[in-house]
Amino acid sequence: MFRIAERVCQSGANLFRGGAFKPRTSPYAFQGMGEEGLALLREVGDKFSMPVVTEVTDPRLVELVAQYADMLQVGARNMQNFALLTEVGKSKRPVLLKRGMSATINDLLMCAEYILSQGNSSVVLCERGIKSFDSATRNLFDVAAVPAVQTLSHLPIIVDPSHATGRPDLIPPCAMAGLAAGADGVHIEVHDCPEVAKSDGPQALLPDQYDELAGQLKDLATLLGKTISPLPETLA
Ligand code: PEP
Ligand code: MN
Repeated sequence: MFRIAERVCQSGANLFRGGAFKPRTSPYAFQGMGEEGLALLREVGDKFSMPVVTEVTDPRLVELVAQYADMLQVGARNMQNFALLTEVGKSKRPVLLKRGMSATINDLLMCAEYILSQGNSSVVLCERGIKSFDSATRNLFDVAAVPAVQTLSHLPIIVDPSHATGRPDLIPPCAMAGLAAGADGVHIEVHDCPEVAKSDGPQALLPDQYDELAGQLKDLATLLGKTISPLPETLA
């Protein structure tokens, strides 16, 4: 994490994300390092002055995760875990809410309401691909969801082409498409040795690939007249 954080920080990443509690499809897959992982993540964030975001999978863990993380992620598999949404809604931490793999845009927005209605107004939505019949990509990247959400909601929305496509070769064009469609940010998985990654190695970009993409995203943002904000106020 320290090695990777140094590289992505140099490339201009302004949030660092890593999973300590992993909601894996199989109960036999690596489940994350738990609190030990949270402590490491905090150390990395402090060392590189990058706020950290990590997933919380259980309402009983919200308080613990909020002690270490600057932002709480609710993953696709938990998008409609209403007890979890209510609990993160009571937290003071901003929330990254990922679209469920079979969720409609309306479902996503209603889940955001669960958080907002508890008094937590800092919610960032994330389009991360939905299930489709085509196995050529891991999920179907619904880029239209970005402007569609923006017609309905004031909430920021980012795209996650890593989980949406599952293919490093498709991540850069889909990240650019997301930005061009109006996304407020991108969520990209990076590993300097994907073969040994505990999770999602095959979809990780190498630090050099991430660096190249970050440069292209900056150029596109300039072309689109977008300002690259250092950080939202709540995280600064
Ligand atoms: C993740 O962000 O690593 C993750 C598990 O994503 P999702 O919840 O979108 O599958
Ligand atoms: Mn992942």
